[in-house]
Amino acid sequence: MARKTKIIATLGPASASPEVISGMVAAGMDVARLNFSHGTHESHARAAEAVRAAADEHGRAVAVLQDIQGPRVRVGTFPGGAIELAAGDRVRLRDGDGDGSPRTIYVQHLAEASPVEGERVLLSDGMVVLHVSEVDDDGVTAEVVEGGTLADHKGVAFPGAGAGLPVITEKDEIDLAFGKELGVDLIAASFVTSGEDIRRVKALAGDVPVIAKIERAAGYSNLEDIVMEADGAMVARGDLGVELGFEPLPRVQKEIIARTNAAGGVSITATEMLESMTTSPRPTRAEVTDVANAVLDGSDAVMLSAETAVGKYPVRTIEVMAAICREAEASPGYPAAPPFELEGDNPFPAAIAGAVADTAASLHLSTVVAFTESGNTARLVARYRPNARIVAFTSNPTTRNRLAIVWGVTPLLFGRFETTDEMIAEAERILLVMGLASAGERVAMAAGIPPNQQASTNLLKLHVLGSESTGVPSGKRRRS
Ligand code: PGA
Ligand code: MN
Repeated sequence: MARKTKIIATLGPASASPEVISGMVAAGMDVARLNFSHGTHESHARAAEAVRAAADEHGRAVAVLQDIQGPRVRVGTFPGGAIELAAGDRVRLRDGDGDGSPRTIYVQHLAEASPVEGERVLLSDGMVVLHVSEVDDDGVTAEVVEGGTLADHKGVAFPGAGAGLPVITEKDEIDLAFGKELGVDLIAASFVTSGEDIRRVKALAGDVPVIAKIERAAGYSNLEDIVMEADGAMVARGDLGVELGFEPLPRVQKEIIARTNAAGGVSITATEMLESMTTSPRPTRAEVTDVANAVLDGSDAVMLSAETAVGKYPVRTIEVMAAICREAEASPGYPAAPPFELEGDNPFPAAIAGAVADTAASLHLSTVVAFTESGNTARLVARYRPNARIVAFTSNPTTRNRLAIVWGVTPLLFGRFETTDEMIAEAERILLVMGLASAGERVAMAAGIPPNQQASTNLLKLHVLGSESTGVPSGKRRRS
């Protein structure tokens, strides 16, 4: 069986060369993530170009995902580059990014973050913890609860507060305009806290789908609101773990994935999935189990960060992740279909997609087909999690790339046809020639007919792939 769960890999210095990127595509990278918290516009442009070339070379759809930095709050600088804080010390936090001291720490956006008395402030990925004792017009007085070293520009988190921060910074606006020039397929928005934040990003994103990174306590609290507006959600376990603590992460991960899938968005599990492979050629047993559990939780995609951006084994890490996904997908009970209600003014597309999945189960089909211009038909079929490969035929190259992130979908570029018969005959020919199905095999097809008129999905066709008409030998074996 083809792998269902998609793999997102972050590009960085360790994966900058066209040769490595080609190897990553061959190993199974479905989505290349350009992390705009690092790198330059020039380095991202070069990476995107190499991804496009590698996708063509290997004949695979690969999406380019632009991850914008968002309002990541950082401390200013210190004389000598760092200070030491000990439990019990009292410190003042002041708005700005100036040069501080062991008594005064400058924090960007402090006023907008509106810290609350009695709450904690987490510095440097939660390594240093403060307790807010007083908030006044001029700043914040806090006591050090857990001490440690605090270096220049380290990150700051205000669990429980921080909802007032601007979701799009000046840098994000510039980066989004640049992403538009590059023609990125997907956008991930960092530190969003509400549906309104998603609407703001969407106003600048054009028609590019926006994935919400759930990495603030406030974002998690407003999850329902966010998944209604966004095209997907990422369990951003790095920053979310700082805000919530690590222990709730497994439960929160399951909840975010379930709610995102139920809303019809793409769900992504991210951060430290194969972290030890940053320096080791083999993962730990715990990491293998973590990736497998993210698959079993129903993730559309699993993500690699440092492993492929700065690690020693970017290609091998993807091979390992692909193998773990395949094994996990062989578990009994996988894939579990989430329940859906037919909704909206036009319930036909969802009804057809559900019928495709039901038919795939009752007839034990290996392949189902979705003819789709916007990608919606394929996304709807995937939503029902059929135990069959979903081949999506589209004439739109952007749709083809965007579908690369969607669970179970093999997107293929296709022509435009005058009649339904011609469209089905050509799909049949491609399935057989590419070895995606064999002659005599039964497939279910979903389409909007008549073709070429942007009809929404209204046709379910059950079809036996013929051997006579296509001239493909009937003994042709299917590729796994
Ligand atoms: P980041 O987001 O890698 O951009 O920080 C993911 C996370 O926080 O888990
Ligand atoms: Mn993050």
